[in-house]
Amino acid sequence: MRVNQTLRIAVLTIGCLLLASTAAAKPKPLQIDFIDVEGGQATLIVTPSHESVLIDTGWAGGRDADRIVNAAKAAGLKQIDYVLITHFHPDHVGGVADLVQRIPVGTFVDHGNDVEDSDDARVVYKAYEKATEHSKRVHLAPNEGLPLQGIQFQVLTAAGERITDPLPGAGEANPYCGSDVEAKPDASENAQSVGVLITYGKFRFLDLGDLTEKKELELVCPNNLIGTVTLYLTAHHGLAPDNPKALVWALHPQVAIMNNGAHKGANPEAWRIVHDSPGLADLWQLHYAEDGGKDHNVASDLIANLDEKSDGHSITVEAEPDGSFTVVNTRDGLSRKYRAK
Ligand SMILES: [Zn+2]
Repeated sequence: MRVNQTLRIAVLTIGCLLLASTAAAKPKPLQIDFIDVEGGQATLIVTPSHESVLIDTGWAGGRDADRIVNAAKAAGLKQIDYVLITHFHPDHVGGVADLVQRIPVGTFVDHGNDVEDSDDARVVYKAYEKATEHSKRVHLAPNEGLPLQGIQFQVLTAAGERITDPLPGAGEANPYCGSDVEAKPDASENAQSVGVLITYGKFRFLDLGDLTEKKELELVCPNNLIGTVTLYLTAHHGLAPDNPKALVWALHPQVAIMNNGAHKGANPEAWRIVHDSPGLADLWQLHYAEDGGKDHNVASDLIANLDEKSDGHSITVEAEPDGSFTVVNTRDGLSRKYRAK
């Protein structure tokens, strides 16, 4: 009797210990919030250890900074650890001055100085310099990254430069190269974009900012230096000739998100390439593309904002290190879970 009781207690104790260790081993997800800034970018990333990175800040005027702060608060953030500015165009850097008045920022990260010298460009860049003059500001180059716990945050492109060696497991010849007419050089800030790959276990998310065709092709032709990705944010709002087939199809994304506005991006040619990408389970859009018609828009339940007068609905992603992830349209609550490949 006593032996039995001792055994039972031992079994119970081991059971409890096992349960506790399974609970402790369940990793937290990586959260990505594609905030609607109506044809710009503002992507909020919250890591499993609750560190935060905002990629771009949308437009000036306060609307976009309000949306970012709402998303940050909903994620339980009291500050944003890093704000990465992909390049110095007003749909990406415009919201910085509004943002710093609303929430503390740890460090600003960018590619260096603005390469454009038009009057408009100077105004935008000066506003950024002024808004960040009392903040920590660092420049990142390809092969550098951010020191975040539990995830890898790698810079692939910045200031017109790129990684030159393939990432681990990548580097295969790309059969889709050569199918496009030769890409033109781009002297604008777009080609300076900081492009990043964020890896959480087997989950890989690629955000190239507004990188344009020539620089995009350099990453994947003749050999694909990146390899495949799980989630692809369309470059340059889904404009063409950016997002060429040689890039998108070689990346082989499982899901793509188009950060377009009602009248910006989601160009039919680029939309078609992304939509028809082999192996793509779904394309989600931040906006119904008014100029695309029903042949160049996905089903409305996958679109976060249907009307031109948007309420700023976002698309959110929760990713697990095994590569599985869930995408939610915050307008209609549609949620889709994607299995690890
Ligand atoms: Zn842009």
